[in-house]
This record gives sequence, structure tokens and C-alpha cells, in this order.
Amino acid sequence: MSKIVLGGGIGGLSAAYYLRKKLPHEQIILIEGSSRTGGWIKSSRQVEGYIFEQGPRTLRLQGPKGENTLKLIDELNLGSLIKPIPSNHPAAINRMIYANGKLYSMPSSFWSIFKKTPPFSKPIVRYLLNDLTAPAKVIPERDESIYSFAERRFGKEIADYAISPLICGICAGDAKRVSVKFLMENLFDSEQRYGNISKGILYEVLFARNRKPKVIETDLFKRAKKEKWSVYSLSDGLETLPMRLEQALRKNNVDIKLNLSCAAVEFYKSKVQIYTSSGDKILTNHLISSLPAHVLGNLLVGHTKLKQLLQSITCVNVCVINLHFKKKVLNTEGFGFLVPPKENIPILGVTFDSCCFPHGEGTVLTVMMGGYWFDKYFGNNPTESDLLQTALNQIQTILGISEKPDTHKINILPNCIPQYVVGHNNKVDLINKYITANHLPLSLCGSSYYGVGINDVIMSAKNVIDNL
Ligand SMILES: Cc1cc2nc3c(=O)[nH]c(=O)nc-3n(C[C@H](O)[C@H](O)[C@H](O)COP(=O)(O)OP(=O)(O)OC[C@H]3O[C@@H](n4cnc5c(N)ncnc54)[C@H](O)[C@@H]3O)c2cc1C
Repeated sequence: MSKIVLGGGIGGLSAAYYLRKKLPHEQIILIEGSSRTGGWIKSSRQVEGYIFEQGPRTLRLQGPKGENTLKLIDELNLGSLIKPIPSNHPAAINRMIYANGKLYSMPSSFWSIFKKTPPFSKPIVRYLLNDLTAPAKVIPERDESIYSFAERRFGKEIADYAISPLICGICAGDAKRVSVKFLMENLFDSEQRYGNISKGILYEVLFARNRKPKVIETDLFKRAKKEKWSVYSLSDGLETLPMRLEQALRKNNVDIKLNLSCAAVEFYKSKVQIYTSSGDKILTNHLISSLPAHVLGNLLVGHTKLKQLLQSITCVNVCVINLHFKKKVLNTEGFGFLVPPKENIPILGVTFDSCCFPHGEGTVLTVMMGGYWFDKYFGNNPTESDLLQTALNQIQTILGISEKPDTHKINILPNCIPQYVVGHNNKVDLINKYITANHLPLSLCGSSYYGVGINDVIMSAKNVIDNL
């Protein structure tokens, strides 16, 4: 009996890849509802040669998850296509925020934390020291918003100008709703255990050195360390990664079925019945779902409690507008800027793509809008021309760009980024407990559970297959 993977985004493709490695002779079917694999990863090369990334644009190297992705890239022979941004490049050093009508560079070096860098009214080190004296607060629910945690430990300016725009940049979400465990689980645990973060860090340094996970020392990883990459992409855009994964899967007899949606999932004794959009039924003894949690929840027959838990992990809509200008229109170099929500303007941020990865004489920018605030600014049926006009007005005000772009692409991505609101980890625990207690032959991976970045998603796929 075949194993079935639902969804052909990077989560489903990676799951099928690790599954094929683990079970070389098993029949594997991957079911993807759309006409292509890759999910939100979509790169479109324009005739002049520059790339519009319509979803994600860079991968991070840091940590075991970053190392794991690099290993996958190595195994797929994509190493020669890597376009790194080295850590001394302006795009690695200069990340900005737009506050009080101005662009400000965020502190990026050890020494810069000792200087006053507006919009912060004090040197960053003073906010960090605040942790030593701020009273500890035991949170009985063992979770709170990342905004309230940052405000309690470091002060309101850090919560407003550092954490809130960061959360907009990572998940287009509201730091006042997103769980502290989304990014700062260790810091939160330190405070809960030791009374402040500093004591927790000291304890880790003194007693927990050996707990560092082993690094996957591939040649590519050594090259990345030597050349000091901060983030990277691939020369034909990030979509090269899912495209190459798809090729590798087809070559290894994974049956990838495009344009076939899963319409319902029914557990039947120790098996699972998949009902497809073409009216067929497929029986499997194990289902791996990489679908967004709420989508899987809607497909479940019965199992009301599991259904409700899955449906409660919701996503936000994001509008991504790629712009190309024939000449140089930026007078500052950097990765781009993010906008703290308290500024109340209708964009999340802008990336300076042609600064990160230069191509020819022109300028490529991407404006991100919406997220948690999509309905507030755009309602539920905005026109493309209104969205474009909003983006152009904002880059004129903030960056002084009055030229009209010669090319643009407007992409409305519905329900594209899950929101790990307060209580998220608890929900995921309950989901896993339900699956175990009811002996359901179901494994879950993808961006809804253990992190929203590509590295997190690939690792979630590897983990479910390792644990199968
Ligand atoms: C605008 C944006 C910018 C981002 N930037 C970055 C970045 O710079 N770096 C980074 O690391 N991450 C970034 N991310 C996050 C990253 O792109 C995603 O987390 C990741 O691509 C999600 O992969 P996935 O496989 O979990 O889900 P998806 O990509 O959503 O894949 C799920 C797949 O399931 C299919 N599907 C849905 N329903 C059904 C059904 N009923 N039957 C069959 N198939 C179905 C869909 O068509 C889709 O192909 C960004 C995300 C967005 C939206």
C-alpha cells in the first residue's frame, strides 16, 4: 500500500524526498491541488534577466535548521547556484525601520549597542541591562505575547521599534498577538526559571555548553563559514529549490499528481481514505500532510476535536508588489526597511532586491502589504490598481521615488502565513496527543506547526519522516 503526501509546497516535497531516502522501494504518491509544485515559493525571471520573487526571497544559514537546508541543497547539487550575501555586504549590515517619518538603520555591530541610535532614546545596552532589574513575572499560562514579554524585560521602545517590525517581517503578524515562543522561547523560559534572562544565559554558558547540537559539516557549509554568508538565494531565484526537488522525486519514482486536490480525509480502522477532486478514493496506511492546518481541518471527516484544533491555526493574507525601474532610484543601500505597526501606514516593509542581488543598471524593489492588517487597510476585495497605487505612494513618501516603474507584478497571497498566536505550542501539543491517543496514521509537517520559515518547514518534514 502506498504512502501519501498531501501538498507539493516545500514541506510536501521535502517530506517525499526524505521518505524516498528512508523507504527506497515503497510506492509514494504526492497530491498537489495546483498546476505546479513549490507552493508560496515562486520566482519569475523577467525578459531583461532580473527576478521577481513573489514569495520568499532569502534563506538563513544559522542554526541546525539552516545547516540542514544547506545539506539538502548540497545533495541536490545546487551548491554552484548559491548567491550568498556576505556578512560585510551593505544588505547584511543595513536593515532599517521607518518611524516618525524617517528611515533609521538598526544597530548591527557589537559596538553600536553602546551608542544612542534613534529612534531609540537610549543606547541599546541600557534596554538590555533593564532585564537585570525588571521584576520577574510568573506567567501561569506559560505563554504571553512577544510584545508584552519584550516590553516587560527590555522596555516599550524595544517592543515597538525592534520586536514589532521584526514580527511584521517574519510572519506579517501583530506582535501583540503572536506568542513569545515563536521567536524567544529560550529567553522566556530563562525568565520563568531564573527570574531574568541574564541569569538563564549565564547558566547556559557555564553549565550547558555540551548541549550544542552537532553541526552538519558539509563542504558547502565550510564554504559558507569561510565566505561568511549571512543569507543566500539561488541564481534563478528560490523556486529553483522546489523545482530541483520535484525533478529528484520524479527520477526516483515518486508519483507526483498535479491538479488533483484532496477533497476529504477519512480515518478507517488503521488506514486513511483520501477522496480526491476527480472523484477517486485512495487508501493508505500512512498519510503525511503538509497542507496548512486549517485546510486539513476542513477536510477531516469526524474527529471534531482535532478538526477544531487544526482550524484554529489561522493565516493572514499578504500582498506582494514587485517593481522594476530602468535606472538607479535608491539613494541608500541596504536589505530594505520594515514599518512598526504603530506608524499606522498601509505597508509592512520594502526589500531592496537589486541591492541584495544586483542585476544590470536597474532597481528592483518589493513592497509587502497587509498581513494581520489586510482588511483594515484594503477591505476584502481590493482592486489591483488601488494596491499598486498605495505601494507607489508609500515609496514616494518614504524613499522619494517619484519615477514610475517600467514593470510591476501584483500578487495577492491569500492565507499565506500562519499566525502562531499565544497558546500555539499548546495547540500543537494537543493535536499531537490526539493523533497518538487515537492511533491515527497521520503525520503533520509544513509551516503551520514548528516555524514559518523555509528552514523550519524542511526540518519539520525531516523530523516527521525520521519519526515514522
Ligand atoms: C510573502 C512571503 C514571504 C516569505 N519570505 C520568506 C523568506 O524570505 N524566507 C523564508 O525562509 N521563508 C519565507 N516565507 C515562508 C515560506 O515561504 C513558507 O513558510 C513556505 O514556503 C511554506 O511551505 P509549505 O510547504 O508549508 O506550504 P505551502 O507553500 O502553502 O504549500 C502547500 C501546498 O499544498 C497545496 N494544497 C492546498 N490545499 C490542497 C488540497 N486540498 N489538496 C492538495 N494540495 C493542496 C497548495 O497548492 C500548496 O502547493 C515567506 C512566505 C510568504 C508568503
